[in-house]
Amino acid sequence: RAADIECATVVLGAGPGGYTAAFRSADLGVDTVLIERYANLGGVCLNVGCIPSKALLHAADVIDQAAHASDYGVEFGAPKINIDTLRSYKEKVVGQLTKGLTGMARQRKVRVVQGTAKFLSANELEIVGDDGKALVLRFANCIIAAGSQPVKLPSFPWDDPRVMDSTDALNLADVPKKLLVVGGGIIGLEMATVYRALGSAVTVVEFMPQLMPGADLDLVKPLADRLKKQGVAVHLKTKVVEAEAQKTGIACTFEGESIPEGALYDRVLVSVGRAPNGGKLDAGKAGVAVTERGFIDVDRQMRTNVPHIFAIGDLVGQPMLAHKATHEGKLAAEVAAGEKKEWVARVIPSVAYTDPEIAWVGVTETEAKAKGLKVGVGKFPWAASGRAIGLSRTEGFTKLVFDEATHRIIGGGIVGVHAGELIAEIGLAIEMGCEVEDIGHTIHPHPTLSESVGMAAEVFDGTITDLY
Ligand code: FAD
Repeated sequence: RAADIECATVVLGAGPGGYTAAFRSADLGVDTVLIERYANLGGVCLNVGCIPSKALLHAADVIDQAAHASDYGVEFGAPKINIDTLRSYKEKVVGQLTKGLTGMARQRKVRVVQGTAKFLSANELEIVGDDGKALVLRFANCIIAAGSQPVKLPSFPWDDPRVMDSTDALNLADVPKKLLVVGGGIIGLEMATVYRALGSAVTVVEFMPQLMPGADLDLVKPLADRLKKQGVAVHLKTKVVEAEAQKTGIACTFEGESIPEGALYDRVLVSVGRAPNGGKLDAGKAGVAVTERGFIDVDRQMRTNVPHIFAIGDLVGQPMLAHKATHEGKLAAEVAAGEKKEWVARVIPSVAYTDPEIAWVGVTETEAKAKGLKVGVGKFPWAASGRAIGLSRTEGFTKLVFDEATHRIIGGGIVGVHAGELIAEIGLAIEMGCEVEDIGHTIHPHPTLSESVGMAAEVFDGTITDLY
């Protein structure tokens, strides 16, 4: 069959990885097609991930700030929540960004094709639109950016709308009286933060011995303490073994060290990880190797085992984060356009936008110990920061992990309000091969939370000073 569309580079999937790749490709003068199965561009991140969750977290923050304002003499009274307005606000934020992407694609003359794509061969894709009509697209280079989707544990009755994945939870159908969050990772705890602020009684169960597995335990503690104070019940080393839809709620059976008291929940959010979409593309017809779990392996130029087919974003591996996908997308587009490049990011920051936020980058202290690395650690408690005291948020701290011999920064972690904004400095320090003294000698503005990074670095000459 003759091709209906031909192009130099096709990008499969319009999430952060895909749209960045398509835009970069077009900017380099390459004739580019972007395929997306949904009407809105932006993928998980813009539509059902990073952006809507942060819009809701903003509302949660306002509710909490108002609740604590009486500490300094400002009374607001109990919040009245209009869930429809909140949902519209979230949708407005999402819409503004996704419409912006459509405009940017148009400006760059990226041809956007709506439909679900699968490989027919190493140079052809079939795209089936919502109307069931199929098109054949012939390409010279392809960038696979089909992303990931929530893991659906089979022990849950998924046909019952009270059982939710993150997409359902972001839809904000109502504020359940009792919400069970299965999985205490970043996504689960962000949604727990939102629903708790809106008024749900939240229970979190986590299979691992700590919340937010992957982050240092000391970073997680201030969050765990605050959740406890706020009445969120956290059960570690515990899992749900059975969930049954009953008339009055979802009945859950637990197994583990700490069993929640109640067993009946109005809604259950299952947030136990995401699975890559690599296995759904007939990639084998193009000769592209897909792992058993659905990941696609790539080299340092983002090429798959088929050199003119690239893969980026969530489906090439952890961490499944938007900022990793965009960097990979840019690189793949540049290499596909003929540039001789490769990308080796030293580190990729992780941020949980909980309250307090937790952010970490590079080697964690736990990892350093496990690997037997000889490291020094500089830690600055926010109880000594004038800014944190003024904000009534002194539970945070900042820490730097550096090589004991060279003093080069190899990792860092921050817990506290705005930790996600503050972590960038440590990422930059690692990328630039900074020594801890370099940060200590850099004058940070006063009074800011960013000063805590400078003060954590002053460990080198032992002069940790309070910042009042
Ligand atoms: P995706 O965003 O998954 O996009 C893939 C696109 O491909 C989708 O639009 C999909 O419809 C399309 N597609 C798939 N298969 C086909 C096909 N066969 N044909 C056509 N189109 C197809 N990351 C952060 O960095 N910060 C955050 O704060 C953050 N918060 C998150 C909160 C939640 C609730 C969730 C679920 C995720 C969050 N993430 C966050 C993760 C982030 O959303 C992902 O890492 C990011 O979206 C991955 O980008 P991607 O381009 O690889 O794929």
